[in-house]
Amino acid sequence: MKRRSSERVHLLLTVCDFLNAAMPSKLPSTLSAPALVLVTGANGFIASHVVSQLLAAGYHVLGTVRSAAKIGTVLKVHNHHRKLQLCIVEDITSKEEYVSAIESVIDSHLDAIIHLAAPFSYSVTDYEKDLLIPAVRGTETVLDIAQHFKIKTFVHTNSFACIYDAAAGAAPGKTYTSADWSPLAYEDGIHAPNAPAAYRAAKTVAEQSAWAYIEQCTTGSSFSLISLCPAMVFGPFLPGAEPCSVAELNESSKIVWDVIRQGENGNIPPTKAPVWVDVRDVAEAHVRALSDEALVGKRLLLAAGVYCNQEIADVAREMCPKHKSRIPCGMPGKREAASHFKVDTRAEEGILGTRWMSLRDSLSDIVPQLFEIEQKGMP
Ligand code: NDP
Repeated sequence: MKRRSSERVHLLLTVCDFLNAAMPSKLPSTLSAPALVLVTGANGFIASHVVSQLLAAGYHVLGTVRSAAKIGTVLKVHNHHRKLQLCIVEDITSKEEYVSAIESVIDSHLDAIIHLAAPFSYSVTDYEKDLLIPAVRGTETVLDIAQHFKIKTFVHTNSFACIYDAAAGAAPGKTYTSADWSPLAYEDGIHAPNAPAAYRAAKTVAEQSAWAYIEQCTTGSSFSLISLCPAMVFGPFLPGAEPCSVAELNESSKIVWDVIRQGENGNIPPTKAPVWVDVRDVAEAHVRALSDEALVGKRLLLAAGVYCNQEIADVAREMCPKHKSRIPCGMPGKREAASHFKVDTRAEEGILGTRWMSLRDSLSDIVPQLFEIEQKGMP
């Protein structure tokens, strides 16, 4: 039975207080290949990299997608890998659909879930239907699936949106870490002034729901939770996973495209979400979360650092001289870092043992690909 929203808010606030005091570490349990991992939304931009890295590490993967056409595309992207299976779940909020789709494919035990499926789109008008319900109820449903199949590890793809407090504004002195929480509640999402604000509320409440679920299951929860909160994710599409046209780009790749397509004398659009990370680092963290005990029960901010759109233009012009005439000059060298908050991910670097990929490396892979996608989509 669904909780009333006032009860939900109360529960989530209690959980937030609890999380700020100490992140729960339910069951230190880790996996290793060839465990079977369910990846929801396996056709997505980030998910394609996660699936690729899981397969490379020797895991068996069962991916969910929303249509038969997407099964074909995903299989092709991963060269029909023998350890990859796919099933269709159209309704992210239907436990019955998940159970029957999964049971129709697997004949072995499900060990882990990486829950990536969620709408990340600003082109929506009904915020509750298009963002909040699939993110929040979708998460609750996939948690029920985790319980149903008695998995060991649940990796939840959340966002810097769950951390960032837009009401605090640019906050130049502020440094965000994974200990921070967006104050947005479900109702804030319904009445949000714009789609990005509704998206931030949807992601925040979805993450809180997951921690609340784990906390409620003091008896009988079989799995541990790891929450990964990426900043804006840049980087290349895997071959075969590119969208058919630039109109179909995912929201974060659109940010890069909207800068580099303006023409040499064009205007550089304002920077709206000035924290980023490369998709390959994000995928690596997801795979690591399955096998590394140090991540059990943790909430990690995945961010290489701050950026601004002028920096995207500068780096893109330098790294991709072939496309210089398409990329705006703006005011080369001008940076906005001092005008807004920072992020601190030193704790994550320690836990993950990672050094984030540089913006230069990330952009030199995606910029030429974006111009190719533009060509491909032209009539
Ligand atoms: P994509 O849009 O590329 O992929 C989203 C995936 O979720 C697709 O498989 C999509 O299916 C599925 N999905 C979207 N809406 C629904 C819905 N209503 N019901 C069921 N499935 C749905 O996004 P990304 O790869 O960029 O994002 C993946 C996850 O990472 C999301 O949870 C997002 O919030 C999170 N994230 C992304 C960041 C980024 O910068 N890209 C930053 C931080 C977090 P379909 O293709 O059929 O629509």
